[in-house]
Amino acid sequence: MPNSITGGCLCGKIRYTVSQPLQNIIACHCTHCQKASGGGASHNVVAPTAAVTFTAGQPKLYADTAQSGNILKRYFCADCGSPIYAQREKLPEVMVLKAGTLDDSADMKVIMNIWTKSARPWMHIDPATECHPENRPAKS
Ligand SMILES: [Zn+2]
Ligand SMILES: [Zn+2]
Repeated sequence: MPNSITGGCLCGKIRYTVSQPLQNIIACHCTHCQKASGGGASHNVVAPTAAVTFTAGQPKLYADTAQSGNILKRYFCADCGSPIYAQREKLPEVMVLKAGTLDDSADMKVIMNIWTKSARPWMHIDPATECHPENRPAKS
């Protein structure tokens, strides 16, 4: 496994590195992620903001009002449109990277599916994973 994980957008103007290992992917089937990704779901990898460094470019911000009512800041490449990461306005210490922007994610796997109640009927969801009809329950 490489020491640092790298990723970037389709056109290559935005590049980033993550200084710690990442393993778990959470697939979000909410309707906002479907629109924002152009796919059936977004595949998200949670990383501490402090571990992520942008080595090229700066993503553009779209401030989305999530179904929960909270502001979810969605960052994407202004040139090619690739979604790069999302961040809850109330949780700036965490970044939710889009797994498809990682250069190599061979060691990772989907461990959880959320917002399955709005999943597209043609999306396969592994029943062996942890599934939630809406957001994952908050840990208190
Ligand atoms: Zn780009
Ligand atoms: Zn979502």
